[in-house]
Amino acid sequence: MRILIVGSGGREHALAWKLRQSAKVEEIFIAPGNGGTALEGTNVPIKVDDLPALVAFAKEKAIDLVVPGPELPLVLGIKDALDLEGIPCFGPNAFAAQLEGSKAFAKNIMQEAGVPTAAFGVFEEFSEARDFVLDKGAPIVVKADGLAAGKGVIVAQSTDEAIQALEEIMVQKSFGDSGKHVVVEECLVGEEASFICFCDGHTVKPLPSSQDHKAVYEGDTGPNTGGMGAYSPAPVLPASRYDEIIESVMQPVVNLLGTKDKPFIGILYAGIMMTKNGPYVLEFNVRFGDPECQPLMMRLDCDLADVMMACVQGKLAQTPLPIKDETTLGVVVAADGYPGSYPKGMAISGIKEAEALGNVKVFQGGTAIEHGQTVSTGGRVLCVTALGADLAAAQKRAYEALKFVKMDNAYYRKDIGFKGFK
Ligand code: AMP
Repeated sequence: MRILIVGSGGREHALAWKLRQSAKVEEIFIAPGNGGTALEGTNVPIKVDDLPALVAFAKEKAIDLVVPGPELPLVLGIKDALDLEGIPCFGPNAFAAQLEGSKAFAKNIMQEAGVPTAAFGVFEEFSEARDFVLDKGAPIVVKADGLAAGKGVIVAQSTDEAIQALEEIMVQKSFGDSGKHVVVEECLVGEEASFICFCDGHTVKPLPSSQDHKAVYEGDTGPNTGGMGAYSPAPVLPASRYDEIIESVMQPVVNLLGTKDKPFIGILYAGIMMTKNGPYVLEFNVRFGDPECQPLMMRLDCDLADVMMACVQGKLAQTPLPIKDETTLGVVVAADGYPGSYPKGMAISGIKEAEALGNVKVFQGGTAIEHGQTVSTGGRVLCVTALGADLAAAQKRAYEALKFVKMDNAYYRKDIGFKGFK
């Protein structure tokens, strides 16, 4: 098989690393890739939103499977464009990708499918949204409808804060067209977990639960980031509850999209709030979470290419999905200042030494290789990921491995996994 992975983060490095272990995979291209993916395959300088160039490349290289990592190419319709050329794509079509591309679409689908989610309203007029906020009171959550790089959600503690968020999104248009509509919803209370499933249009098979750490500082304080670390499984969402979530959340959504003749193929990711009334869906993503993908790929105990092809061919029900019965934990090394402005071009060393500890993989995000030297190019640079018998062992190993990795101006959270010990 010849595979084209689209993206340039730690998630794409983890996918390339896992796919390269498959005896069936002959060649891997990554567009545009990073310093880590260059070690697993061939980087190709095509941007993730340049669909014509991606499709042309896939045709030229006789690619057997395209694996989009981030949401943007999926929302733009890469699967639909590849379908026209008869090239298989592990990901949903543009219609189904609206589950992530439009929060209003996702809420309406959840309502239609009877999936537990916060009570909500969708608004195009500022005055109507404001009246809804004043009627419901705080705390209340305001969400820009479209993609907003993880910044379009405001959990407001007062009605003033919520109305200010509405003004920014709807009047000042700080998210452009992504804020044309807003979702205003009830504030849920509980602990969050990620539930990520493979789908083939009919069948849903779960990966183990995981938990991301979005806030930049220890104790989940400071601004949100693309993720400062993740681990799997998340004790708040134990395996004994997977069936319940498949039955109440994943399967109804996949079934509903099937009846609309828009089958969901690829990764369906539910951000779940474990409330005292049971699991509620906060959001859907239509791809792996970047931090979660890295520990999850270390636990996957089978051929990822087989599983992805089974999804594309509608054969997931017959395909086993064995998982290592251990815990994995990844700690992100970021550049100082991230998620604000940060320096670039720092030399990185010690990756091989960290991996030599055993059961450790250093996945690279914002890196490149320049004159033979790995250097930082982004805010989230690496994710040092370790496997252990339990959470304490995985955490200990990841932080031990981290000591070998050297980079100036580096920052990492010292408490990844802390919620799992509660
Ligand atoms: P989303 O992109 O919709 O997952 O929202 C981003 C983050 O905002 C979530 O991970 C939650 O921490 C928070 N959030 C979103 N919706 C709600 C809600 N209804 N109640 C409480 N917190 C929420």
